[in-house]
Amino acid sequence: MGGMTSLERTAIALQGGQPDMVPVATLAISRALWEIGERPRTAINDPDKMAKAKIVANEKFGDDIVVAGIDGCFVEAKAMGAKSFWSDHMPIVDTRYRVINTWEDADNLSFPEPHEHIRMRCVIEESEILMDKIGDHKAIAVVVSGPFSTACNLMGHENLFRAMVKEPDEVHSLLDKITDYSIKYHTAFKGIAHAVAVLDPVASVETTSPRQYEEFVKPYLERDMAAIAGKGLIPINHPCGDTTGILHMVADVIPKGSPGAIHASYGNVETRPMSLKYLRNVLGEGVQLDPDDPYSIMLKAVKKEVGDRVCVCGNVDPITVLLEGTPEQVRATVRRNIEYGAEGGGFILMPGCDTNPYTPSENFRALVEAAREYGVYG
Ligand SMILES: [Zn+2]
Repeated sequence: MGGMTSLERTAIALQGGQPDMVPVATLAISRALWEIGERPRTAINDPDKMAKAKIVANEKFGDDIVVAGIDGCFVEAKAMGAKSFWSDHMPIVDTRYRVINTWEDADNLSFPEPHEHIRMRCVIEESEILMDKIGDHKAIAVVVSGPFSTACNLMGHENLFRAMVKEPDEVHSLLDKITDYSIKYHTAFKGIAHAVAVLDPVASVETTSPRQYEEFVKPYLERDMAAIAGKGLIPINHPCGDTTGILHMVADVIPKGSPGAIHASYGNVETRPMSLKYLRNVLGEGVQLDPDDPYSIMLKAVKKEVGDRVCVCGNVDPITVLLEGTPEQVRATVRRNIEYGAEGGGFILMPGCDTNPYTPSENFRALVEAAREYGVYG
């Protein structure tokens, strides 16, 4: 092991610098509960159990970043009245029950104080415990939702996208209110987390066009990220999926002069022709693709395009590699990720998204061990 703590290593990478070795996160978030014999259903509203699970999983796998929260994509919408159903991972917002059916509903939204809503309060308390127990040497990041994805959770996908075409002014006014409220929650982590990862899965180009991103996502995220950075927290932008055509905007929402990161799967060069075209534009027609690994190579293009402005996080596929692959496949993927993304620093190795709770322990271990083996700078 190098001379740096996990926190020092991660902080340097988030500032774009080169630490002793590549920081690594397993994103074993729901899965951490399995490590203490609990499940999301039995522990989600118990901050002590949640924090304990995250600490036990971190000790077992030995990674650098511990994540507070579990249903980060949904907490804000739940506080504003959304209903949810249970998956194995977490309670997910059920958009068949829509909080906003008319603009009058949007005018009558309720915004409970973060400490007064059970999900917000539990995540805040979990983060407090993590910071108190391990925050002097581990990086603590909390997961929250971006305003655009929260709007989608409140209105439902079809209604939101229809309104973006037919009644854009009303959508902007709604996003403005959601952003004000989100900032209240996101900045409540001042002093009790190091970084705030804003999850915005609806904002990737699988569902939202670059023009829509520019109009309906970017201005609100920009305001949110500036408020987060203003409280001394490091913002991380997670648009989740394909970033082809929006990558520069995804990086631009991190305030200038502030440390910050972007994190996504960035695109699949096998199934998405636009991703492959983009990759060849940036790296040249002769770029070598990896059979069986359509994601890792995207890091090379992303790093080249925006790596001088923001820290880049990724890009191990959480499903085909971590959940379904062997430890040897995990090691090979880590090696490629480090080859493509680590040069010069400003890089954190992690899965491209949240992991499945049934991911084998040996794969999480292989992820961290291979990062330590291949990721030493010098
Ligand atoms: Zn994601």
